[in-house]
Amino acid sequence: MIIVMQKNASTEQVNQVGEKLQEKGFKVHVSEGVERTIIGAIGNRTQAIMEFIEMLAGVEKAVPVLQPFKLASKEFKSEPTLVKVKDTVIGGEQFQFIAGPCAVESREKYLEIAQLVKELGATMLRGGAFKPRTSPYSFQGLEKEGLEILAEAREITGLPVITEIMDPRMIELVADYADVLQVGARNMQNFFLLKELGKVDKPILLKRGPSATIEEWIMAAEYIISSGNDQVVMCERGIRTFETYTRNTLDLSAVPLIKQLTHLPIIVDPSHGTGKWRLVEPMALAAVGAGCDGLMIEVHQRPGEALSDGPQSLTPQHFGALVRKVKGIITSFTECK
Ligand code: PEP
Ligand code: MN
Repeated sequence: MIIVMQKNASTEQVNQVGEKLQEKGFKVHVSEGVERTIIGAIGNRTQAIMEFIEMLAGVEKAVPVLQPFKLASKEFKSEPTLVKVKDTVIGGEQFQFIAGPCAVESREKYLEIAQLVKELGATMLRGGAFKPRTSPYSFQGLEKEGLEILAEAREITGLPVITEIMDPRMIELVADYADVLQVGARNMQNFFLLKELGKVDKPILLKRGPSATIEEWIMAAEYIISSGNDQVVMCERGIRTFETYTRNTLDLSAVPLIKQLTHLPIIVDPSHGTGKWRLVEPMALAAVGAGCDGLMIEVHQRPGEALSDGPQSLTPQHFGALVRKVKGIITSFTECK
């Protein structure tokens, strides 16, 4: 349930309600909004407990949250969560262009593409150092060396870097280098990893699993938040359907749904979402129309030579054109407001 405090409730009253809830076996999460404080209470809710809580000083009402996700829900927090990444923010008024190759392939190539995408409008850099590949014989990533290259690219460009974390044993290492830790689609329901990421002081970009429902995906976010980290960004990257022309089916209805159901920002990845570079720009424009907070785009200087995901990678030139069009849409949206 959530406990909505009165507008003028004091910190003392909030603390008192929190203590009473804990005494009754609830886990307590406080969300201080602009208008009022809301307390999320996870535990065994009964009518009697709700009535008891409603009698405490400073409480306006106790409301049951019927959805299985609580802390990620819009009821718990009505204002959008702003995820801070170095000097910038994912969510709210900002729009993020996260760009870079699928994998960090070499120092020279990565530093070159990082500077190119920055000049073309990227606001964050991506690149896998640990790659989740279907085949154990495919390129697995440069691992620690890849992380060092990402850090060097951040030094040179000033842009924050996002990279995938696949294994709880690697969290400390990856968090030492990356500004945002990405949970890949294949790991969306790796609950142990999610719980460990809840203890990390870095934002988490949570990709949707290839066959995850929206509810399962939000529940994955709930794992991270309930373990202590509320800096979660959702990322729609397509789901597996019967369609074979595309690698995945990009589910753009996820964008308004996530906005309606949760307070979390959402990024769209039309590269993995389609698997075809020619579909990346049109789906990116549609994603912006649907209201996403940013795009994640794979860009490679020579897609034909990429060690992974070449067919869905844009050239820098095509990425530049995409950025210009997206900016045009955002400007026209702002003018309509
Ligand atoms: C990636 O971003 O490189 C990646 C592997 O994505 P996904 O987990 O969505 O397949
Ligand atoms: Mn990829």
